[in-house]
Amino acid sequence: MDSRRDFLQTLSASILALSIPQHSFASIEGFYSQPYDGPVLRVAIMGLGSYGTRVAEAMQDCKMAKLVGLISGTPSKIKNWQSKYNIPEKNCYNYENFDLIKDNPDIDAVYVITPNSLHHDQVIRVAKAGKHVICEKPMALNAKEGQEMIDACRKANVKLLVGYRMHFEPKTLEVIRMRKEGELGKIMFFQGLCGFKIGDPTQWRLNKQLAGGGSLMDIGIYAINGARYLVGEEPVWVTAQETKTNPEKFKEGVDESIQFQLGFPGGAVASCLSSYNISNLDRFFLTAEKGFAEMQPSTGYGPIKGRTNKGELNHPHATHQTVQMEKMAGIILNGDTSLVPVDGEEGLKDLKIIDAIYLAVKTGKKVPLKL
Ligand code: NDP
Repeated sequence: MDSRRDFLQTLSASILALSIPQHSFASIEGFYSQPYDGPVLRVAIMGLGSYGTRVAEAMQDCKMAKLVGLISGTPSKIKNWQSKYNIPEKNCYNYENFDLIKDNPDIDAVYVITPNSLHHDQVIRVAKAGKHVICEKPMALNAKEGQEMIDACRKANVKLLVGYRMHFEPKTLEVIRMRKEGELGKIMFFQGLCGFKIGDPTQWRLNKQLAGGGSLMDIGIYAINGARYLVGEEPVWVTAQETKTNPEKFKEGVDESIQFQLGFPGGAVASCLSSYNISNLDRFFLTAEKGFAEMQPSTGYGPIKGRTNKGELNHPHATHQTVQMEKMAGIILNGDTSLVPVDGEEGLKDLKIIDAIYLAVKTGKKVPLKL
C-alpha cells in the first residue's frame, strides 16, 4: 500500500466493513472523507532503530498523530531524521537530557521503542516529565516493573499505552467480534505459534541484560496476548517447557524455544509455541462449539490472512502502525476506547503470564494465575 490515497481508501473500507461498536471507532468512520482540523497528538520517538523507523514512516499517513520530536543516542541518526521529517533542533534530545522535555510545550507524548530492559526507567522518566507514554512490547521485564510504570504514570496523571498493534487490525477484530457476539459458541481451544530463526548472535535480543529473556519476551508474547483476546478470558494456570538445542547462541536466561499451555476459567485451553529457532511460525487457530477461526500469518506486519467457518476474512489490509497511531491519538486526546485495551494494565497482564511461564519452566510445576 504505497500512496496515501490507497491507504485511506482501504482503511475506510476496512473499518466500514466491520460492525465494530460505535465507541471503538468513533473517530475513524467517515473521518477520511473530510479535511481534519481537530487536535493532533504530537509525538517524539525514543530509539531510532528498525521498529522506530517503521513507526515513523507509518505515521506520515496519520491525521491525528504527527512525529515532532526525536530522542536518540546516535547524533547522525538525529541529523538524518531531522531533515527527513522536518524536526526542529529544539525537539531533539539524547538519553541523558530528555527529562528536559518537560519544558517543551510542543511535545505531547513519547513513544519508547528501545530494547526491552530500558523501557521501565525511560517510561518513568517520561511520565515524570509530564508527557503521555506509548511503550513497545514487552512493556517491561516483569510484572513488578510493569506495576511501577503504571503507578508512575498514574501519579503524573499521564496516559500509558502499549504498542499492541494487533488490537486495531481489522481481521483480528472481526474474529473477536464473532467471539463476543456468540457466533462461535463456547470457546474450546486456542493454538498460537509464534517464532522465527534469529540471526546475528551479538544483537541485543540475545543479550539477557537488554532483552530480559529470549523468544518469549519478543515473539512469544504475541501468542500470550492473542490467546487472551481470542479466547476472551484471563488464564488461571500455566504450564511450560523449554527446549534448548544451541546453548552457545542462546545463553543462560535467553530462551530459544518454549512451549506453554494456558488454562481458562470457562474450560478452554491454549497450547502455544514461542521460538527463536523455528521459521514460518505465525499461526493462530481458535476452535469453538459452533465455529472456528484460523489465521496465518496472524501477527506479522501483514497482510494478515485468515478464514472462519463462515469463509475467508477479506477485510483490506491497512498499515498496522498507521491505524494504531491514529487510534492511540484518539485514546489520548479524546478519551476514545478500543475493543481490546492497550493500556498499561493490559501490558501488565502479559507480564504476569510471562513471569508465570518462566517460573513453570524452572519448577516444572503448574503455576496458578490471578490476573
Ligand atoms: P533495534 O535494535 O532495531 O532498535 C533499538 C534502538 O534503541 C536502537 O537503534 C537505538 O536507537 C536504541 N537504543 C538505546 N539504547 C540501546 C542499547 N543499549 N542497545 C541497542 N539499542 C539501543 O530494535 P527494534 O526497533 O527492533 O526493537 C525496539 C523495541 O520495539 C523492542 O522493545 C521490541 O520488542 C519492539 N518491537 C515491536 C514490534 C511490534 O511489532 N510491535 C516489532 C519490532 C520491535 P538510537 O541509536 O536512536 O539510540
